[in-house]
Amino acid sequence: MEQLTKDQVSRIAGVLKERQGKLRSEIREGLMRSANERYKDMAGMVSDTGDEAVADTLADLGIAEIDRDVQELREVESALARIGTAKFGICTDCGEAIVFERMQAHSSAARCLACQGRHERIYAHPKASSL
Ligand SMILES: [Zn+2]
Repeated sequence: MEQLTKDQVSRIAGVLKERQGKLRSEIREGLMRSANERYKDMAGMVSDTGDEAVADTLADLGIAEIDRDVQELREVESALARIGTAKFGICTDCGEAIVFERMQAHSSAARCLACQGRHERIYAHPKASSL
């Protein structure tokens, strides 16, 4: 499997950055709508940092609708961190290159389709393991 070209990587990077900006504003707006004052304090933190600690804290608060955005933002930022390293576009499980079509459809993908499917089966049904 061929690795992504520089052009393909920069196109995906553009998609990721756009998504990152959108997610951050969605999270911020979600927090602003919240009646709880302490969430509002955190909204300011989300706007100017990619700090994982903020995402972790938000996830801990268990705000369902925001939590999903935070999870995705974390994936997007993790993908952005891999760009420029040899690991971007490479499956974290099997080390094979992830096809460009998959990266376009799911720009923060960290696994190839086969490994993602296996990961989700394990993750979704931990008790269904045949081991
Ligand atoms: Zn894989």
